[in-house]
Amino acid sequence: MRLGVIADDFTGATDIASFLVANGLRTVQLNGVPEADRAAEAEAVVISLKSRAAPREEAVRDSLAALDWLLARGAEQIFFKYCSTFDSTPKGNIGPVTDALMAAMQEELTVLCPALPVNGRTVYRGYLFVGDVPLDESGMRHHPVNPMTDANLMRLMEAQAEGKAANIPYATVAQGVEAVREAFAQLRAAGVRYAVPDMLDAGHLRILGEAVRGMRLVTGGAGLADGIAMSLSGGAGDRAAAEAAGRPLGRRTVILSGSCSQMTNRQVAAYDGTGPIIRVDPDAAVADAVGHAAALLPAVLAKADGPLAPLVAATVGPQALQEIQARHGAERASQAVEAVFHELAKLLEAEGFDTFIVAGGETSGTVTQALRIGGFHIGPTIAPGVPFVRAVDKPVTLALKSGNFGDETFFLTAQELARAQAATQDR
Ligand code: ADP
Repeated sequence: MRLGVIADDFTGATDIASFLVANGLRTVQLNGVPEADRAAEAEAVVISLKSRAAPREEAVRDSLAALDWLLARGAEQIFFKYCSTFDSTPKGNIGPVTDALMAAMQEELTVLCPALPVNGRTVYRGYLFVGDVPLDESGMRHHPVNPMTDANLMRLMEAQAEGKAANIPYATVAQGVEAVREAFAQLRAAGVRYAVPDMLDAGHLRILGEAVRGMRLVTGGAGLADGIAMSLSGGAGDRAAAEAAGRPLGRRTVILSGSCSQMTNRQVAAYDGTGPIIRVDPDAAVADAVGHAAALLPAVLAKADGPLAPLVAATVGPQALQEIQARHGAERASQAVEAVFHELAKLLEAEGFDTFIVAGGETSGTVTQALRIGGFHIGPTIAPGVPFVRAVDKPVTLALKSGNFGDETFFLTAQELARAQAATQDR
């Protein structure tokens, strides 16, 4: 295993995994620390935790458990992955987790690199920018869980960690790999624990990716993973080979849409009239979720073997959603709808469905749980941030789309891709 990643949330894990696969690394994503071996042939393993907003002690404990698992399986380098907007508070969890990992690995210096220039996250003079503005002038200033009111990464880190942080300025990074390594050595000698290199573009990430070879612990966003993976593959990674283990099966496909986001509403509307749609009745769901799932099953089966997959949708627009929530309470309604998808996914698996295209973050979580999927191989990308994935322990394919991802034609595009790939495998 070249790279072992500890990711502080699920979507962040999928994000970094996609970058690694794109650079030709065979990648497995595991949901939490597994009990047994589940990633035998992977070059990169990404363990997704829920440590971003968890209490500090829990975040540290889970991260250390993930570290043990990865080191025991020969991970050459450990990557602590957090968000490119450095989501944290003066209590953590980026600082405390980094310190715990450094202590466990007996490392004196690590790197902090949230930069993701393709998404407008850059670092200059140690200040993190989101697009044209510093982090604390971006929407992150008003984030409900971790409002970011400072853009200075050294100050942010020192407030929540044990040691000193220092910037490696743009001029040094621009000189290349040797200059950055030299800067690491100087910082280490000066007792600095966290190096914060300036990162303006993909070229800088490539330099840093190369410079951190041999650094056993690094921390950052998906951009640094891109740099490291590019350095490992020499820029010539075989993406198709890396994705092979995650190729979709697409023998019997269903679409489950439990998101009410604007984009999902458009996607469901675009499918309407083209493919078969079966609507979830939220009132029936609240009354008896398990019973409602059983009642939906025959309608899904009746449409199972047509040219286009059946779409089971709870998706409604804002007005209708408000009315449903007023009738039942928001939490009760959403839990009931999630319970319907949970039960229905199990029933459909028993009926031989092997490909589940799911819309909605929470909905994806509940379906993954219902199918008891502990981890998956990352396969080909359907839309940015949404790859097909194949379960490690059974022949089941998933596409997990959070609300706003994909374009209008996503449900069709996903099926076409699944069918094309399944045909290649049958040959
Ligand atoms: P997104 O990624 O768009 O946020 P999620 O699946 O994370 O989607 O969240 C959507 C939530 O809304 C889920 O809890 C889901 O059960 C709930 N929901 C979906 N449709 C309805 C509906 N018609 N009435 C009430 N709640 C719904």
